[in-house]
Amino acid sequence: MFTQSFHNHTWRCNHATGTEREYVENAVAHDMTMLGFSDHAPYVFENGYYSGFRMKPDQIKGYFETIGALKEEYKGKIQIFAGFEAEYYPKFFGEFLKLIDDYPCEYLLLGQHFLYNEMEGRDSFNAFTEDKYLIQYVDQVSEAMSTGKFCCVAHPDVIHYEGSPALYEKEITRLCENAKKYSVPLEINLLGIRTHRHYPNMKFWEIAGQVGNTVVCGSDAHAAKDVWDGASFGLAMEMARKYRLKWTAACSILKGGHSPK
Ligand SMILES: [Zn+2]
Ligand SMILES: [Zn+2]
Repeated sequence: MFTQSFHNHTWRCNHATGTEREYVENAVAHDMTMLGFSDHAPYVFENGYYSGFRMKPDQIKGYFETIGALKEEYKGKIQIFAGFEAEYYPKFFGEFLKLIDDYPCEYLLLGQHFLYNEMEGRDSFNAFTEDKYLIQYVDQVSEAMSTGKFCCVAHPDVIHYEGSPALYEKEITRLCENAKKYSVPLEINLLGIRTHRHYPNMKFWEIAGQVGNTVVCGSDAHAAKDVWDGASFGLAMEMARKYRLKWTAACSILKGGHSPK
């Protein structure tokens, strides 16, 4: 039964549609018990640079107020949570934590869409063959997990490496072993299944099964209609069975002892 998702966006990221209420209503209509909003986190960059796919710092207040009000209103019907999906950008991470420190952020998902950072690095989702970028991805995700600030790695298989299969296996094994060491669950991303992206990457999940990682799934909804996605959830469960992944409820990300604070 698909009853929980902690990976859902809002219109503030400029590439999602609908109101938060519509997301909640769709979740309630499908008997979901927990819904977490994890919009693309605000980040403060240098020289006035602003990326268009995340909320602005001055939208943080409204984000938590809106979700906080829905939390109260829907009490008894569904439990609502507020967090962020954030990249780990070493250069700007301290400032980011300071920025959200005054707000009731309940969890951070790691979504490493860029290497180094988006001003100076490259994206992780477009195909490439250079070994150094795969190694950098694993280094950066591992360092992110070691901070203890992230509750889960969203689409850990977003990295689109098309070089040596042997290096992929070696590096992804390293990533999975580090996730296990830091007790960070890995997310099978339903948006990837729903829209036929290059992830889920079956080789990745075969390795995660061998390492013994804990997995959750997340809707990654950018529209209210995608909050509940039973068809993709069914396929994710099949993958979990096939690769003997340790499937756990999405809410277990809250119990890992990780906190943005
Ligand atoms: Zn998005
Ligand atoms: Zn997302």
